[in-house]
Amino acid sequence: MSETIRRALVSVSDKSGLVEFGKFLADQGIEILSTGGSAKALKDAGVPVKEVSAHTGFPEIMDGRVKTLHPKIHGGILARRDLKTHTDAMTEHDIAPIDLVIVNLYPFEATVTSGADYETCVENIDIGGPGMVRAAAKNHGFVTIITDPADYQLVIDEMKAQGNSTSAELRRKLAASAYSHTARYDSMISNWLQSECGIDFPRETTLGGKHKQSLRYGENPHQVAAVYSSIDARPGVVTAKQLQGKELSYNNLNDTDAAFELVSEFEAPTIAIIKHANPCGVATGDNLSDAYKAALACDPVSAFGGIIATNRTMDAATASQVADLFAEVIIAPDVDEEARAIFASKKNLRVLITGAMPNPADRGMTMKTISGGFLLQGRDNGRITAADLKVVTKRAPTEQELADMLFSFRVGKHVKSNAIVYVKNGATVGIGAGQMSRVDSSRIAAWKGKEAAEAAGHAQSVTVGSVVSSDAFFPFADGLLAAAEAGATAVIQPGGSMRDDEVIAAADKAGLAMVFTGMRHFRH
Ligand code: 5GP
Repeated sequence: MSETIRRALVSVSDKSGLVEFGKFLADQGIEILSTGGSAKALKDAGVPVKEVSAHTGFPEIMDGRVKTLHPKIHGGILARRDLKTHTDAMTEHDIAPIDLVIVNLYPFEATVTSGADYETCVENIDIGGPGMVRAAAKNHGFVTIITDPADYQLVIDEMKAQGNSTSAELRRKLAASAYSHTARYDSMISNWLQSECGIDFPRETTLGGKHKQSLRYGENPHQVAAVYSSIDARPGVVTAKQLQGKELSYNNLNDTDAAFELVSEFEAPTIAIIKHANPCGVATGDNLSDAYKAALACDPVSAFGGIIATNRTMDAATASQVADLFAEVIIAPDVDEEARAIFASKKNLRVLITGAMPNPADRGMTMKTISGGFLLQGRDNGRITAADLKVVTKRAPTEQELADMLFSFRVGKHVKSNAIVYVKNGATVGIGAGQMSRVDSSRIAAWKGKEAAEAAGHAQSVTVGSVVSSDAFFPFADGLLAAAEAGATAVIQPGGSMRDDEVIAAADKAGLAMVFTGMRHFRH
């Protein structure tokens, strides 16, 4: 059924495109009812409007808390035009039909992210707006609801083509958008209140994401995909500015996020190179350029086509080395002018700047869907420091071993389990990721260290004289013995196995220093 639009109600906080749309409606002879600020914007532009308060005969009261909450508004929106009881009620109570509702809500999200105080945030909870949006969306059989200025043109086009009416199909689509607008709005309010009250797990929850971009496909070409932004404005790949390069893919976004979160763990200049969401080289250095050389040396074969993240402004010296490698994405808090010029010659290379680093100690939630539901957990913001370590072997680690162990354990937190990471002088030299047994991860990490040494023309494996970390305890001594065989001199691991005594005895026998962290970093 197509419905001719004769009366519209306009009440918007986002006034972009409003005047043009209002002019179009007025030119069609459509009566426009409007609230304070929206009415003023239209009148100032010469668009004739009737104030809602004049229409209802009731003033806006309580600083705008009550503007449109009136039966003449809600009756006009909700009345079924095809039911005699409804049209009789309209006649009896002098209610005029409202056929088009243009409403978007108070900027609650912007108010919260601006750091406004509690009272201001509460005042920015829209009440009448969601009521009208939901009413108009419910009555989409007759009423057109617009909640996003991006849809003005769509409605104009249909109205022009169909003599001031819209199609049932468009009204239904707009109603669906309207309910996601109010659902997200309420989820933002409840998320904010929950965090104010320290509630981690509410009885009911919604995701509250805003569609940012459709992606060509998901992990594989036969999967659909899109990226959404959330109210959590954590600096990272979603909020980053893309300076150049091809469009980001689903896998790029996933890997880049892993890369940037990893480098945020460290204060010193750090580079991480990521493939398939696992690091294939991470290093710190006195400067970025040294860090890059060391990170690349860990596994130059896997680094091909990787994602490169840094926690410092990317400089020209590092950029020119990075430009020699085929990389998919660079992410950094900033990229200086000279480095930008170097990257500019590599047209396809995606370069992202975030303006800031995320805080690794931040609280927050991560989510994973499973059949029939989803799992929520707090972010892994656990951070082991030297004070948390317990030396369990006869030999205590040296200063250098200690520094490398802490670095290794932090890197291991960002490696898929089972994670084994060999480190020497602030750089990974062998990473074993994602194996079903810890001993296999140990062997793979050691083997990768040997390969890297061969590629660099070294006589002995780079894991000789290194330290090794394990994201969870060694259930048997075999994983530890594989590390000792590879030449590791010190081990950092959570401890807590039934066979800790056996593992400690094996470490002592091999002359290793070993520390327990008491914290596990599984990542799947
Ligand atoms: P204006 O700028 O036109 O004065 O206000 C527009 C905003 O007011 C819109 O975001 C709309 O959702 C909101 N609004 C409309 N009616 C009411 C109401 O009765 N109570 C409250 N709190 N907000 C309303």
